[in-house]
Amino acid sequence: MSIGVLPTSTLAGRFFLCERVAESRAPVKTQHRNETPDWLNTPAQQERRTQTHGLLLAWYSRYGRHTLPWRHTRDPYAILVSEVMLQQTQVERVLPKYQAFLARFPTLAALAEAPTSEVIKAWAGLGYNMRAVRLQQIAQEAIARYAGALPNTLDGLLSLKGVGRYTAGAIACFAFDQPVATVDTNIRRVLWRVFRGIEPIVWPAGVSGEREALALAAWALPGRNTDQARVEVATQPSSQSEQSDAAQAAYDWQQALMDLGATVCQSRRPACEQCPLTEVCAAYAEVAALTLFPSGEALARLRDERAALSEHPEHTGASEHPQPQMGQVAETRAASTSDANTTRETPEIDGNSRPTATVAKPRKATQPFTSTTRYFRGRIIATLSELAAGESLALAELGLLVKPNFSPDDLPWLRGLVDGLARDGLVRWLTGKQDDAAEEARVALP
Ligand code: SF4
Repeated sequence: MSIGVLPTSTLAGRFFLCERVAESRAPVKTQHRNETPDWLNTPAQQERRTQTHGLLLAWYSRYGRHTLPWRHTRDPYAILVSEVMLQQTQVERVLPKYQAFLARFPTLAALAEAPTSEVIKAWAGLGYNMRAVRLQQIAQEAIARYAGALPNTLDGLLSLKGVGRYTAGAIACFAFDQPVATVDTNIRRVLWRVFRGIEPIVWPAGVSGEREALALAAWALPGRNTDQARVEVATQPSSQSEQSDAAQAAYDWQQALMDLGATVCQSRRPACEQCPLTEVCAAYAEVAALTLFPSGEALARLRDERAALSEHPEHTGASEHPQPQMGQVAETRAASTSDANTTRETPEIDGNSRPTATVAKPRKATQPFTSTTRYFRGRIIATLSELAAGESLALAELGLLVKPNFSPDDLPWLRGLVDGLARDGLVRWLTGKQDDAAEEARVALP
């Protein structure tokens, strides 16, 4: 079968690793309708879609991560917990914490009513503690506004503060059997590569970029419908069994895309050699057009070289649209950057994700993690989590526990960190907040 290769879009910029879309950045809160782009409305793309459905779902049936515990529940609350935990955190780290968290807070009401300090303590080890506070706030809002349960519509879910389009779509699809498209970083990357070509180093940003990704995901969603109506919560199914089939197809398809993205079509270095989609994949076809030996490594090399040339066109002698030379891709081997055999899941467009170097740019020297604000914020939370209920620490005591060689000169720095944590709802001042000279200012978990 021959399928034309579509042009790639902008390739300049940097390359980020990630898993779940970071919803704090330009969330798409109200988008339901998506215009299918013209480049998808072709017989070749429709044929590619049909073939991809069959190939990927067959692969998922055999190789999907069916043992993940959140694949064995339709409890909206449990799925909400898993989705929030999986943002910015690897699956392997989430697995033990997920079960323990649900054991400690088995229901939405239990989470909503718990002391925030207990929620933060239960979150220990996952990092990004703001998620714990945000998760509890979602539970409290749902309890207050939706009679003690999460709403079962996309609009209702999106109305909750802190729930973005990805999480709302995931809960609607995975818990409420709605054939709703959703886009996390794995879904976006796989769909782009299969239907569009080699991805850009910098993804289209903002609301328009998210809408573009969602439009592609909606168009690609299997089921009885093939138009944009699929991105809306189904309100008038023609029959219960048709809706059920569509919902199950949407569930399997989106889980399959996530699994392929996490285990085979990985961000930095896809394992095309192990992929069931090579015969339909537009990105793979791009590489095959340049070399007799297409591979995931060649694909990654081509992507990085395009980015480097776009950033430094003077090195090519060409002023516009520089392209690597034929044969340059396959013969040049990247250093050991392969992540093809791992199953890690890392967020991709979050501001805290780690940029990787392009081939033309040496890695920049990075600040040791143990000297970063994020590190010390985590140290403060971990230290306060060790206190018994009702206990607190003086600011100076806290400093001695979180920073080696802490001195009174460090008090303004520490006060600034604690102020930031207090604004985020992660700690609370007991005394002395306004008094810059008060070394006895006390702080505790909320
Ligand atoms: S062939 Fe390669 S780029 Fe295409 S979907 Fe498979 S792993 Fe990803």
